[in-house]
Formats: sequence, structure tokens, C-alpha cells
Amino acid sequence: MNELKTGGAQGYLRIATEEAFITADVLNAYKRLIAAGVDDPGFVSLWGFYAGSPSARATSIVERLQDLDERRIGDMDAAGIDKAIIALTAPGTHVFAADEARGLTVDANDRLAAACGRHPARFVGMTAIAPQDAAWSAKEIERGHALGFKAVILNGHVRGEYTDAQKYWPIFEAAEALNTPVYLHPQGPSKGLIGPLLERGLDGAVFGFGVDTGLHLLRLIVMGLFDRFPKLKFIVGHGGEALPYWAYRLDYMHAAGLRSGRYYFLKPLALPISGYFKRNIYVTFSGMAWEPAIQFCKSTLGADRIMYAMDYPYQYQPEEVAARDAMAMPLEDKKAFFQGNAERVFGL
Ligand code: MN
Repeated sequence: MNELKTGGAQGYLRIATEEAFITADVLNAYKRLIAAGVDDPGFVSLWGFYAGSPSARATSIVERLQDLDERRIGDMDAAGIDKAIIALTAPGTHVFAADEARGLTVDANDRLAAACGRHPARFVGMTAIAPQDAAWSAKEIERGHALGFKAVILNGHVRGEYTDAQKYWPIFEAAEALNTPVYLHPQGPSKGLIGPLLERGLDGAVFGFGVDTGLHLLRLIVMGLFDRFPKLKFIVGHGGEALPYWAYRLDYMHAAGLRSGRYYFLKPLALPISGYFKRNIYVTFSGMAWEPAIQFCKSTLGADRIMYAMDYPYQYQPEEVAARDAMAMPLEDKKAFFQGNAERVFGL
């Protein structure tokens, strides 16, 4: 394995764009929610494991999630990561009642802002929101922007509801107005979707996260979010949650459905579905250290739309950084992948 160092000797800095943290208060609130018997099987599967399992994987990840100082920076140094763009981990505060969610969200944003202040060369923050209260979240996005955060984290569905309803528009209006991207991150699939996935242990990052998040983004697209907010930037991880691979069939069948009038509620869009991936959406490769998938997205979406991410601490694998350094790609494109696109899209 190549020796991984920070500082850019390989011709680019490495910026990891989907890195996670948690506060002790959010972690304790997750435990309380599970103990109270919350009816959210995706959340219970995810945090019942991480907050409850004595396994080495769970304990090491929960410890690392809570560190915003030396341990995290030590891990970044060991993996050659120059800068981490950090967000409150999934499902953020989306699982709580609005009152509790607002308080936990403010505290998480304050703690992340303080950590970015302690380590300004290494950490960049994303603003957490409580989409249960969209008007309040729009104000929190403005506050986060003033604190120096460079994106908004949307941790998937909101207690089973996807954010394509108009009541969520204030969030997207604020993000577009500030030219700050919205990072749509997975969480456990919604209660309506999870059944057959959970039955076979496929609800988590193994597959269910991608199913739920890809569906969420598609719902936003077909309901015209990016026609209403044409300058809104979205970022989606894990190689685009499989949607780039589906682009041809999505375009063909969505247009066929519109022509035939099969769904009365579907309205024509300004672009084919794939068009939004070339105008509004950026794709990161968190947890997807696989060159064929990266090269496919580079060739179909463009070298200016793909970004590096590690998915720390859930997938902390320094050898995956080395594998991506070794990709067969011109240095200019590799620099865009690891550094330049993140600097441009997040406005670093
Ligand atoms: Mn992640």
C-alpha cells in the first residue's frame, strides 16, 4: 500500500465529503426513543445495533462518532485525509417530535461549529436541520451559513414522510438562496418500505439505505423540485445511490408514463430525469471504493460532478484511499475528484 500522507504530495489534497459525528445528547435521545418502543423499524434496526451492541464494530464507531478532536484528526492523518466535511449522523434529529428536534439540532450545530473553530484547516461543517419544522429549519440554515457551514444535511425521510411535499419548500428555498448544497444522506428505510428488506437483514447500508435514498431523490425530481428551484444543488452519496446506472430506463419510462397519462398527478418536467443529474446533482463515492462505478459516473455525469468521500467512521478503511489514488484517471480529473469539485460545490 502507498504511504498515505496529508499535504498534497500526490498532486491534490484529499477532501472527504460525507463524514459523520454525533453529540452525546443525540445519542442519549436515540437510546430513550428505542427504550420507549418507538414504532420506526429502520431506526430501531440501525441505532438498536450501534447504541446497544457490545460488538467491536458498534463500540468503535460510536466512540469515533463522538470525537471532534485528536482521535478524528489522528484517523484523518493515518488515511491521508486533509479535510473532512462533517455532518450530524443519520437520522439526525428527524426521528424526534419537533420541540425536542429543534433543541438537539441547535446544540449539535453549535458543537460542530466550535469544533470547526478549533480545527479550521481540517474540519468543515454542514448545518443540521429539523425538517419537521421547515420554517424554523430555513432560519437555522441561515444561522449555519453565518457560522461558516458549507452545506445542509438532510438525513432522509422525516418520520416516514419524504420531503417532496410543499411544506418542506422553505428548506430548499433557503438553501437555493444561499447557494449552499443540500446533502441527502441515507437512514433506515421508511416504515412503508422496510418490511421485505428487514426480513433478510438488507435494510441497512448493505442495500436498504440506497433504496430509500434513491427513491427519496427520485420523488423530489418527479415532483418538480428542481424546476421550482432550478439553481438548487443536491449532493447524494454512495455513487448516486444507484440512480446514475438507471438513467436510461428512468428517462425512457418516465417519459412513456407521462405520454400515456398513466398517473394523473405526474406533470411534465423541464428536463429528463437524467438532466437533473447534470444540472443540479453531484455524486460522492462514500463507501463505494470501486473504480468501475467511479469511472462509469465520470463518463456519464462528467468529471466535474463526482467527489471523494470516506463515510467515516462507518467505513474507515485507509486502503480504500490508496485504491482511489491508484485509479486510472488523468491527474487533472483525479484532482477534481479529490479536491477541486468539493472546493467548488461546497464553496470552500
Ligand atoms: Mn454516510
